Amino acid sequence: MTLAQLDLAAEVQTILGKLGVAADRYTGGTLAVRSPITGKEIGRLSEASATDAGQAIDAAHQAFLEWRLVPAPKRGELIRLLGEELRAAKASLGRLVSIEVGKITSEGLGEVQEMIDICDFAVGLSRQLYGLTIATERSEHRMMETWHPLGPIGIISAFNFPVAVWSWNAALAIVCGNSTIWKPSEKTPLTALATQAIFEKALDRYIAEGSKAPKNLSTLLIGGREVGEALVDHEKVPLVSATGSTAMGRAVGPRLAQRFARSILELGGNNAAIVTPTADLDLTLRGVAFSAMGTAGQRCTTLRRLFVHDSIYDALVPRLIKAYQSVTIGSPLQDGNLVGPLIDKGSFEKMQQALEAAKAEGGKVTGGARVLDGESADAYYVRPAIVEMPTQAGPVKEETFAPILYVMRYSDLDEALHLHNDVPQGLSSSIFTNDMREAEAFVSDCGSDCGIANVNLGPSGAEIGGAFGGEKETGGGRESGSDAWKAYMRRATNTLNYGRTLPLAQGVKFDVI
Ligand code: NAD
Repeated sequence: MTLAQLDLAAEVQTILGKLGVAADRYTGGTLAVRSPITGKEIGRLSEASATDAGQAIDAAHQAFLEWRLVPAPKRGELIRLLGEELRAAKASLGRLVSIEVGKITSEGLGEVQEMIDICDFAVGLSRQLYGLTIATERSEHRMMETWHPLGPIGIISAFNFPVAVWSWNAALAIVCGNSTIWKPSEKTPLTALATQAIFEKALDRYIAEGSKAPKNLSTLLIGGREVGEALVDHEKVPLVSATGSTAMGRAVGPRLAQRFARSILELGGNNAAIVTPTADLDLTLRGVAFSAMGTAGQRCTTLRRLFVHDSIYDALVPRLIKAYQSVTIGSPLQDGNLVGPLIDKGSFEKMQQALEAAKAEGGKVTGGARVLDGESADAYYVRPAIVEMPTQAGPVKEETFAPILYVMRYSDLDEALHLHNDVPQGLSSSIFTNDMREAEAFVSDCGSDCGIANVNLGPSGAEIGGAFGGEKETGGGRESGSDAWKAYMRRATNTLNYGRTLPLAQGVKFDVI
């Protein structure tokens, strides 16, 4: 079947119907949604106004006041049910992710699996929101810390992980006792509608089990940047977790700081890998090819820069170029295709501009041309590009959200590490080596400066359990796993006096009549 023959609007209708989303939620609105697979419209949604957003935040605040009274392990039960509902809906939601974003089938399903995994993680967490008991210098006193929910948590998500980002935040926020308000990317609102319907199913089951939960515990606000701004500026939203480009982070961060609100900013990455003389070249080839070309270069953790030691450059790079020339490109819904489309025309144009700029800096470009445009004029498929660069200059120092891998030679590891860290954006990183000292140096204090540093695997992808995100400019590694839950709660230190006296500071006398 050619791209032109695919009827994705009909398939979207079937999937959303199955997931319990009424047709009037995605027809007749002002926000047009197109599948990057064909470039054709697959839905039209109504958008929230700033007034709608204000009302939704007030309602979410009321929900928070009620939800914080529910014991944390009981809150975990709701997320357990959400995990079950996601398991039941995995095939449908995964397929919808592929249709709306253009990910190959296994990646669409993999994204839903991440949602399931974070639910499992959060259920366990709901019984582990520990505070410390701390030694106090005062006699007959006890000092401890307690953790309390924050309020309605704003979640702003990017197009390329249309549903997982919500779950990384929402599963933790909800077990921590908060309500959530989600503004998904304006490019991917259909998967958000589906996810909200799945959450509501879990909530209905929770209530049917006899548990109490407020309305508006999880709210979805469809719209563009202005809706995101309403969340960012509202005094009742104490934390906004925003995932997207560094440009978005630069706009959102100062606005939140101005009103002393918290932020979790998970932003772009210009991720690199270093290949040293002792690297296993077969393993490296697979790791590099997958992390540079997978999801058509549209992952925050996509490999974008590769530093290869002089002594192995000629053994690795020609093989890599061959892999680039032979990779199968086409509809991500068809088995066997490894690279799907770019999200839209704007993305294609930025890729071509970056390749022109790289040529101007002396880069030798292989690939990068548009393909399949004869089958669908509105869809943008490209052959991934590999660019051999004489130096790290021009577009190499920026994140272009497309499949471009810049390859550079190095002769000294310190020099490679310096170049590796010498970009403003730093999210994920790798070294391929069998030399223990090089591996240890890479993950040490003076090695990679990214939130994720890997040895002998590519930088792309992240696993629930470890904290990730972690763009270096914003502090590194704060979402999803490890102790990331603390961002969704506030800490209080409590001191209790079980004695009959009130010791004051040394030498102070304070007589009360
Ligand atoms: P984007 O920055 O264009 O948009 C992201 C979201 O921010 C959207 O929902 C958008 O409506 C909203 N937004 C934009 N400007 C805003 C503003 N001023 N105020 C409030 N909201 C605003 O990003 P995108 O093109 O959707 O996604 C790709 C980018 O996201 C890449 O840079 C990628 O690296 C990054 N990303 C990072 C992570 C991570 O975990 N670090 C994960 C996924 C994607």
